[in-house]
Amino acid sequence: MAKAKVNQKMGPVVELPECPICLDTMSAPIFQCQSGHSLCSSCTKALMPPICPLCRQAMTQVRNWQLEDLLLKATMNCPNRIIGCAYTTVASNMENHIKECIYREMICPLHVFGRCSWSGKLKEMLDHFKEHHSQNLIMTMDQKVTINNLNINEDDRFVYIMPQGKMMFIVTLKIDTKLKLAFFAVQLIACQKIAQQHVYELSITSLQDKERRVNYFDHCFSDATETREILQSAKCCVMSLSMLGNFINKKSLSFSLNVQRLRPNYQREPNKNIHQVNPNVAKNRQNFRGKSPSAVTHGPNRPKGPWKKPINQ
Ligand SMILES: [Zn+2]
Ligand SMILES: [Zn+2]
Ligand SMILES: [Zn+2]
Ligand SMILES: [Zn+2]
Repeated sequence: MAKAKVNQKMGPVVELPECPICLDTMSAPIFQCQSGHSLCSSCTKALMPPICPLCRQAMTQVRNWQLEDLLLKATMNCPNRIIGCAYTTVASNMENHIKECIYREMICPLHVFGRCSWSGKLKEMLDHFKEHHSQNLIMTMDQKVTINNLNINEDDRFVYIMPQGKMMFIVTLKIDTKLKLAFFAVQLIACQKIAQQHVYELSITSLQDKERRVNYFDHCFSDATETREILQSAKCCVMSLSMLGNFINKKSLSFSLNVQRLRPNYQREPNKNIHQVNPNVAKNRQNFRGKSPSAVTHGPNRPKGPWKKPINQ
């Protein structure tokens, strides 16, 4: 019978029953033989003739509904537990977790160009970038990133990663000549809940005129959300290519990124590697953003002045 141990938060964690033939954890549909042994569906289908290997009685199409139900409700460990994931959840939620588990096998964020086929663990990604894509690595917040040879008349995509402590952020700039738009999106390699707790400030500064600047604030998305989906829904910094052109000098564009973690009221241990931000400040920033949906041209640290009001052109 399944063993149980007590997880402080979620009650007993049951080691889920295995199929006696393939030894995989059982999942629905589960079929029984005439004497009541349960086998997984793929083993049942593979039996030729359909005789139970345990008791030599005929297999039936009778499902073990109670066991299927128990498996759906049972708290289970993440399959990446052996490599460090301590996450436990009911079986019905596990599929979602596996998609965003930071211990899963990852593919290189630069695979979109078809140039890199690397896959590996999150903790190996930084070394991979240092070795193969050092140009696409943002090592510190506020580091000015300069994209050279930027041509806004050609579709293009630039992807950077920015490590912060144990966190890894992915920054994407997409030039879409058909829509005549440029998109900047920031994702955190984490589940959606953790990603939402992080807000970023993207700062695009003109290389000719320091007073020309766009500051955009938003929550991070999880990397489990497809970048394409974020760009399509425009839940990121979007600006016209003609506006972006005003920030480009001699085919170079410069931006910086600052990420902060919101401190929920119940927050226990602040992440020491990431600046904390007062939720009220972030709220104001959101309001500020709300007034200008695609871009905000005045940072919070800028002196107050007449330019704070929208200028009618
Ligand atoms: Zn089986
Ligand atoms: Zn049997
Ligand atoms: Zn996991
Ligand atoms: Zn790569």
